[in-house]
Amino acid sequence: MAFSAFNLSGKVALITGGNGGIGLGFAEGLAAAGADIAIWGTNAAKNAAAVAKIEAFGVRAAAFVCDVGDEAAVEAAFAQTLDRLGRVDGCFANAGVSGRGGTASFADMTTEEWRRMMRVNLDGVFYTFRAAARHMVARGGGGVLVGTSSTAAVMGAARNEHYGAAKGAIPSMMRALAVEYARHGIRAHAILPGWVETDMTEATFSNERFAGNVLPRTPIRRWGRPEDFAGIAVYLMSDASSWHTGQSFVIDGGYTIF
Ligand code: NAP
Repeated sequence: MAFSAFNLSGKVALITGGNGGIGLGFAEGLAAAGADIAIWGTNAAKNAAAVAKIEAFGVRAAAFVCDVGDEAAVEAAFAQTLDRLGRVDGCFANAGVSGRGGTASFADMTTEEWRRMMRVNLDGVFYTFRAAARHMVARGGGGVLVGTSSTAAVMGAARNEHYGAAKGAIPSMMRALAVEYARHGIRAHAILPGWVETDMTEATFSNERFAGNVLPRTPIRRWGRPEDFAGIAVYLMSDASSWHTGQSFVIDGGYTIF
């Protein structure tokens, strides 16, 4: 018999960047536990494919084209999400863009590169959680806010200082939200993925030198997979975690402790 606290029937999860990779891993886990799912992404075709996958779990699914770096677009997409699914119990601010490959140094980082990163990976998280917090407080009954950070928040992401800075801000933001909103029954957490096989990392992982350096340093000798993030999403949205808030979960095959 399944542990009943993990039954998410009647709850709605919103996952930004939920049309692929880690976000779709969250979404599929939540849907398998019975939650209805809203997905935001910028690519309409990826959104439609993800909705079809989620609907196969027998739950309601809706996707909206939304650039999370655009404040007005986030407000509009949140309103559309409520219009379609009625409520948001769990908000996963997961949409993100990667840093840069290659060997360009910090000294050569342009202001445009810095702002492009902050616009999506930090401003987008702020706009998304602000809309969710307003809704959850107004509705009552609590909820959970989950930000996708990265192990780049705690390790030196050389030549990707902008990515590390944006991801490093998320655990701090989640702790502040956890304290401020606990009185409303709203919990807040950060997830720090290690190296996970997604569209974002495809080019990096196909570099033999990179793989040869990283995999032997990963105690669980494989890359992460989107489905490795299903369980944590279910736990954090479930009543099983109702006394658990303000934490950062490293999920990285042991890379950072080795
Ligand atoms: P991914 O498959 O490329 O997913 C990125 C997601 O973000 C896509 O769904 C994409 O949808 C969406 N997105 C990008 N820009 C957006 C924007 N401006 N507005 C709305 N949605 C946007 O890569 P992923 O690895 O799953 O990344 C998910 C999150 O995990 C990111 O925040 C990333 O930084 C973080 N992360 C990844 C790893 C890793 O090793 N893969 C490690 C640590 C942290 P569209 O294409 O439709 O825009």
